[in-house]
Amino acid sequence: MSYTIGIDLGTTNSLCAVFQDGRPRLIPNSHGDFLTPSVVGVLESGEIVVGAAARELRVTHPERTAWCFKRFMGSDRPISLGAKTYTAQELSSLVLQSLVEDAKSELKASITDAVITVPAYFNDHQRQATKLAGQLAGLNVRRIVNEPTAAALVYGFHEREAEKNLCIIDLGGGTFDVTVMEIFEGTLEIRATAGESQLGGEDFTDRLVSAVLINQKMQLELAELKHPLHVARLRVESERAKRTLTAKDTARIRLPELDGQFSGQPREFKINRETFKKVCSKLMDRISVPIDRALRDAKLDPREIDEVLLVGGATRMPVMVDFVSSYFGKQPQMEFNPDEVVALGAAVQAALIEQDAAVNDVVMTDVCPFTLGVEIAKDLGGQIQDGFFQPILHRNSTIPISREEVFSTIVPNQRMVEVRVFQGDARRVTDNVELGRLRVENLPTGPAGMPIRIRFTYDLNGILEVEAYTDGGCKQRTVLTNHVQGLSQEQIQAALQRLQKLKLYPREDLNNQRLARYSERLIGELHPSQRQQLDLALDFFEGAMNEGDPQQFESAKQALLMTLSALGFPYDEHSADEQ
Ligand code: AMP
Repeated sequence: MSYTIGIDLGTTNSLCAVFQDGRPRLIPNSHGDFLTPSVVGVLESGEIVVGAAARELRVTHPERTAWCFKRFMGSDRPISLGAKTYTAQELSSLVLQSLVEDAKSELKASITDAVITVPAYFNDHQRQATKLAGQLAGLNVRRIVNEPTAAALVYGFHEREAEKNLCIIDLGGGTFDVTVMEIFEGTLEIRATAGESQLGGEDFTDRLVSAVLINQKMQLELAELKHPLHVARLRVESERAKRTLTAKDTARIRLPELDGQFSGQPREFKINRETFKKVCSKLMDRISVPIDRALRDAKLDPREIDEVLLVGGATRMPVMVDFVSSYFGKQPQMEFNPDEVVALGAAVQAALIEQDAAVNDVVMTDVCPFTLGVEIAKDLGGQIQDGFFQPILHRNSTIPISREEVFSTIVPNQRMVEVRVFQGDARRVTDNVELGRLRVENLPTGPAGMPIRIRFTYDLNGILEVEAYTDGGCKQRTVLTNHVQGLSQEQIQAALQRLQKLKLYPREDLNNQRLARYSERLIGELHPSQRQQLDLALDFFEGAMNEGDPQQFESAKQALLMTLSALGFPYDEHSADEQ
């Protein structure tokens, strides 16, 4: 038996789900959590850890960890991890591998196929990169689905009889998307999508870190701080405070010294919700822009939205809930867990692909969130000027879609044309994003004005194919479908081989590794008088991990757990949140 799993590959956390016995359900990782931090670490031994253990390592050894790499998906920016560098797609493939291991262990089946979600506003490069990450993890990626669309599928799956206009507000760790959709008689029709791919919950944490630094009269911005441990600890403290402010009115941030250590009685920065709101006001100003645009495109007024669905951990923040409530004049829907709904939706999508009988009355239509087109030259008063953008597919067209436009040669006997493909809405191509180029050669000779037909096909995965041909029949098909940033099949093979050499830390021992890294982190945070006690217990535990005598190991583990409890930092194996 084999399953197609649904994966929410998030900036901060990733989740995996499966459709079984007529419903979607989440798959726990080796710690029993549904959320696996999207953090990759390399241990001193050279083995790779993914998830909570890597997140612990990030505080004490930031140089040996990589996180938030989804932000660089689709670029070839090198991200360091220990002595080597990797691309975002390679690091993401390690996260995917770890999720697949969890799924195999839970379902006792082989896992070859997956549906992976992406922010709706991910461009073609970013989607291709996500697909490549799946491929590098050994997965056959059956579909790339927009995160808000996945969330809508869960809603539609549970509320088939509803007839409503829905707005899905998705603020994850690194991206923000807004989707407006209509649901009627089991049909889910996406009407419009808009968003920003560089705005997320992590920016709110960054604002808080900056505010603390400014308040401390250090007048330093994050990047200017030299000591990575200082930044790492301050960030963990700020992240924790941000989450505390979701539940309580005030929070405290312990201030590490400039070398990153906490002194016996660390200084504290107190913050309340009101101040946090001020600190984040510039980010909140950016939130309404895509909402306005999505509603405009869907030709709906905020009051015509019957239900608002919140997706992504960062929508839990009271500043977001308050904003959404006042914008739409109603409280958002609270039935679905914003962290989990996307992965569950990916599993529903997998069931749709597999034609599972439980979803045979659900129909879903999605849209292309961007305007896509080509560069053209214009004749402006007898002067030919290039650099203008000509749309071929308009944003929020229902997909799959295929449209052809006819262009013409500009000079007599023009034998070649280079089609430059862009995404965006600006009049000039320099203000849009270039997606790729296609050369059409050997055009038939003739006067200026010979027709060149350009066809754009945007498929259900949100992936674009461009074809160009002349009436003479010479046809060129682009490359935007098969390559990420110009990566050839050979380069993909090379990346695969490089990744295969990496040794993933054994899944069954990950919990112990996480416990060791948690203890190591605490050693640096404890009062000097308490340090030695924990240091000793950790030495004993790590020694026992290496020796492999089960009895000795168990007693060392118990001793370490008791020491942690006695020091007031009990270890919770099943807590996905930052401890
Ligand atoms: P996601 O990528 O959907 O996992 O979103 C994670 C983002 O949500 C991160 O920036 C988290 O800091 C943020 N987040 C998660 N839980 C909370 C919470 N209770 N309060 C505030 N932000 C949260």
